[in-house]
Amino acid sequence: MNAKPDMHILVLDDEPFMLKLLARLLTNLGFTNVAICDNGLTALEQVDDPAHAPQLILCDLNMPGMDGIEFVRRLVEHGYAGSLILVSGEDERILQSARTLVQAHHIEVLGSLQKPVQPQALFQLVEQWVPPAQAAQHLQGKGYGAERLAQAIEAGELVNHYQPKVSVSTGDMVGVETLVRWRHPQDGMVYPDQFIGLAEDHGLIDALTQAVLAQALSDSAAWALQGCKLKVAVNVSMANLTALEFPEQVTSAAAAAGVLPQSIILEVTESQLMKDLRAPLEILTRLRLRRFRLSIDDFGTGHSSLAQLRDVPFDQLKIDRSFVHGAHHNETLRAIFFASLGLAKELGMEVVAEGVEDAADWAFLQRTECDLAQGYLIARPMPADQILGWAASWRQRWAAEHSPPPSP
Ligand code: C2E
Ligand code: MG
Ligand code: MG
Repeated sequence: MNAKPDMHILVLDDEPFMLKLLARLLTNLGFTNVAICDNGLTALEQVDDPAHAPQLILCDLNMPGMDGIEFVRRLVEHGYAGSLILVSGEDERILQSARTLVQAHHIEVLGSLQKPVQPQALFQLVEQWVPPAQAAQHLQGKGYGAERLAQAIEAGELVNHYQPKVSVSTGDMVGVETLVRWRHPQDGMVYPDQFIGLAEDHGLIDALTQAVLAQALSDSAAWALQGCKLKVAVNVSMANLTALEFPEQVTSAAAAAGVLPQSIILEVTESQLMKDLRAPLEILTRLRLRRFRLSIDDFGTGHSSLAQLRDVPFDQLKIDRSFVHGAHHNETLRAIFFASLGLAKELGMEVVAEGVEDAADWAFLQRTECDLAQGYLIARPMPADQILGWAASWRQRWAAEHSPPPSP
């Protein structure tokens, strides 16, 4: 645990009883520097006081005068660099939107607590606290330049990892999703959220996608030679879909590797709004005519939306992980999950649930019509040479969990 017994914690709540209770719970957990405030203004004074500035604030949402939402905005103005736990008697949806708002202000939210607060839940959240420097580094990354990235693509520093997609009903591994990583000689493994945007903004995304695709095709041909036929999915950026030669490039790469278009899935996410849809529509329609499979990624977020479903002949819909993980116990998520699933089924599409992280997510999916599942519970993304070994151990794991009970 990173949380230190002498770290400065501030509890802000207008109810004296709650203040005392939370302070007592924290003291019982071993924290020795717990301050309490019953209104936002005094709490802000504490934030400004270098000797007592809190590293963690437990903040009530409903307070007369300055409420928790306004307090958070003021925290940003006061340059608060610590973390936050939201406390409220309001329902889960209000807590969730407050949490999203705080994150948008770039304040680290460890989570939210519903009143009456359970000591165990409080402990679990406080345990997640990390020093701000570490948190900021995690969030911001190193900030690479376009030239360095171009060099990395050229030098073959990008490597593909692959994450299995399995059938919810039979457990069969039907395919993999290709996820690119940058094996940086100094910094180690760098994740795509730190360089895809850069590639898109500096005209490098075509070179990147071609490199990823070529590697994915050659790995997929190698698995097939060893008797494992998998559909291989590659992520395609909307920025790829402005180059009219894209369908031709993909077609010749597939032909060169001896992989059929039907076995290749192109996962499309629209991260930025496209003003002129003519080029992407032409490109996607031509790819589909050539029998490549199209998947709409992160459905329900950003611009992966109903308009795209209307306009593009997608074969597959991937429900974003933010609507999958935890859907079993959250009514809102579940409603969005089932609406997306129903829509896709109505349109004759295959459905993949992303972000299957725990046994409860998996059990939930098995009670639905969802076709495929992908997520950390099943497997984390891995290098190409681990895929066949993983497939064998997955078959064993599946058989063990689904074997009939031994007869008495
Ligand atoms: P995506 O296409 O939605 O890929 C799924 C992301 O979720 C991957 O992150 C994967 O590691 C992560 N993930 C998988 N299972 C779980 C889970 O159970 N829980 C959680 N919390 N996360 C899970 P990764 O590899 O960091 O990739 C992030 C995004 O970067 C991808 O999101 C995709 O949009 C983009 N990306 C990755 N490779 C490429 C590429 O070659 N080209 C382009 N244009 N974009 C790529
Ligand atoms: Mg994807
Ligand atoms: Mg996705």
